[in-house]
Amino acid sequence: MINLVWMQTGACSGETMALLCADRPSLENLLRQYDINLLWHPSLTAERRFGDVLAQLTSGEQTLDILCIEGSLMLGPEGSGQYDTWKGRAKIDIVRELAPLATHVVAMGTCAAFGGVHASGPNPTDCTGLQFHKGAPGGLLPGEWRSRSGQPVINVAGCPAHPNTMTKVLAMLASGEPLALDTLNRPSAFFASLVHQGCTRNEYHEYDIEEEALGGRGCMFFSLGCRGPQTVAPCNTELWNGHSSKTRAGVPCFGCTSPDFPSGRDLFVTPKIGVVPKFLPLGVARAKYMAYKNLARAAAPERVVNREMEP
Ligand code: SF4
Repeated sequence: MINLVWMQTGACSGETMALLCADRPSLENLLRQYDINLLWHPSLTAERRFGDVLAQLTSGEQTLDILCIEGSLMLGPEGSGQYDTWKGRAKIDIVRELAPLATHVVAMGTCAAFGGVHASGPNPTDCTGLQFHKGAPGGLLPGEWRSRSGQPVINVAGCPAHPNTMTKVLAMLASGEPLALDTLNRPSAFFASLVHQGCTRNEYHEYDIEEEALGGRGCMFFSLGCRGPQTVAPCNTELWNGHSSKTRAGVPCFGCTSPDFPSGRDLFVTPKIGVVPKFLPLGVARAKYMAYKNLARAAAPERVVNREMEP
């Protein structure tokens, strides 16, 4: 039996809502098939009291195999953590107490991983991530901190985190599968491909058929702020609710798995240097980019120019 505790800190419950949409595996199948005992979740364990669970864990009566944190960690005011408390006790102190007891610690969502929305300026509550502050190592826990498994905090980034990425990561941890991490401690198996890969607007991107306004079928990279070519996430290779993603629904990728999310810039506008996007697809040289784009547009087939392809 694997004991799992899910704690919410500075959160909007986005990961909890997403978790309920997971289908490969679903939350119910995850718990059943991987022998996971959900010791505590603020919305799903009404039969228990958090204080009782906490006492059992800190006394050693119960082991803690997986600790999931949903939400940013509020350090303020002045490091006291009193902006976010449970029965008067700062939640950051509870997390500090539980983390060393856990075999694995998982930051569920970009807020827990990097600080996310709450850590954006002006950040009056002094929010941070569990082991990163934006892209820099060291959040509530120092960069060198390791759980009992020897791994750092596992960052399942996303705003919210992808439902099936959350349940798959938990399934892998419960089965003792090794989990390789990237340089931002995100599980490499789920953060190795770009949102751009698998986007149904890819052919429009190739031929530089771009939209100036929302609602069209073309690519949203050049004007509408899409960060798909710069963002690692499984959104277009493992569809949400089995059938959709932001770009399939006509919304640009906001780059929500990145440590700088939200970046402070307009989410629906592509910043440019002259007429060229300031941020190019990962690994593409600026000088070659425009030459390629001009050629591509000239070669675009009529069916693509006329947007006859269904995204
Ligand atoms: S809409 Fe975004 S993700 Fe889709 S092809 Fe264009 S740049 Fe790539």
